[in-house]
Amino acid sequence: MLKVLKFGGSSLASGETFEKVKKIVEADKSRAIVIVSAPGKRYSGDMKVTDLLYLVQAHIKYSASYDTLFNEIKERYRQIHKYCNLTQDIEKEFDNIYSRLNKKTSVDYIASRGEYLNAKLMAEYLGYTFVDSASWLYFNFNGKVDFEKSYKALSDIIENNPRVVIPGFYGVTPDGNVKTFSRGGSDITGAIAAAAVNADMYENWTDVSGIMTADPRIVDNPRPIQNVTFAELRELSYMGAEVLHEETVFPVRQKNIPLYIKNTNDMNARGTLIMEAFDDDLENKNAHFITGISGKKNYSIITIAKNRMNEEIGYIRRALEVFERFSIPIEHIPSSIDSFSVVVSSSNIESNMHELISALNSALSPDTIKIDNEISLIAIVGRKLQANIGIAGKIFTALGENDINIKMIEQGADEINIIIGVDDANFKKTIRVLYNLSEVTE
Ligand code: ASP
Repeated sequence: MLKVLKFGGSSLASGETFEKVKKIVEADKSRAIVIVSAPGKRYSGDMKVTDLLYLVQAHIKYSASYDTLFNEIKERYRQIHKYCNLTQDIEKEFDNIYSRLNKKTSVDYIASRGEYLNAKLMAEYLGYTFVDSASWLYFNFNGKVDFEKSYKALSDIIENNPRVVIPGFYGVTPDGNVKTFSRGGSDITGAIAAAAVNADMYENWTDVSGIMTADPRIVDNPRPIQNVTFAELRELSYMGAEVLHEETVFPVRQKNIPLYIKNTNDMNARGTLIMEAFDDDLENKNAHFITGISGKKNYSIITIAKNRMNEEIGYIRRALEVFERFSIPIEHIPSSIDSFSVVVSSSNIESNMHELISALNSALSPDTIKIDNEISLIAIVGRKLQANIGIAGKIFTALGENDINIKMIEQGADEINIIIGVDDANFKKTIRVLYNLSEVTE
């Protein structure tokens, strides 16, 4: 059994959190490959080291003094170094980085030093080998990861060094320069490493006990999701749930490596398991029929009605062409016999609403066009929705009993989600009602 672990910045913000990481790694011999972020916030209002590094770069660019900032960064690592009783010469590392700073130093190089230094410290603390990501994570000239080359390079390294700590967030370009991913990119490094070594599991350690069934800012103490498929995850994140980036999941999904989201502050909590599919027979018979609920505000529903519309061939196509001409992405198209609606994000029509309506009028000569603004879309996501008859009924009953007027209903053909539209004013209430409903098991 071989596990790849990635720890986020809040799990590596101080000596105290380093200690927790060590406990987690040592609790399981198969935890052999560890990817680290840069030190994150220790308390709310604190700065992430990566943010400090970007500030250093900005100061260099505008010829401002950056010594105070650089010292602040050094202090962060010195504190960890001291707390963990480390012996490596970290001052030499600082001096080396400092000596390379000038107007020509790339922003990616500077930003990457947060993970680089943290990996150095963590490697010593765990007694693992430090492996620089510039020595195995290759980008192509087009800026995309060269997966094959990176997989081969890391698996060769692991043959001789089975226990390693790797800095997240960056790799190397074909001409030898450091290149970072977008912010939060250490998740991607972890996933690439897991795929490279064909890990049995990729554990992504953060400061929450998994992905929550609903947004904790709306529902008090929501339950973490136990099992979620990649398809469900995509639905949830598209509708606003803050989960892993799609780029992150790609390498592990492709190799069917189970991905866990776990909590560094509660190491024994099960967390959330993400996989391509789950064996229904093995799943808890009492599992919840709703996997998660997420939603977004500020949509508009444009309803176009015309008597005997169903007999006019090409009517909807002509409408969609208008939206295409205005470059407006369409979210949903619920329809009935003599009318259909087009649901769009309000921000995409705000500036050209009148032009859009007049273009629709001239292309379609409808009887009426009606616009409802301030609409929230809420997705009820669950792979078990399709097997359970009567769920839609329960949802609508619950919403009706709570005086929530449903403006739109849509169910995807794959039946893993039901999307409803309600007034923005009912956004939070709807999510709470649905969450309470999701607590009921079948
Ligand atoms: N430290 C980087 C950031 O803050 C990358 C990461 O943490 O994943 O974005």
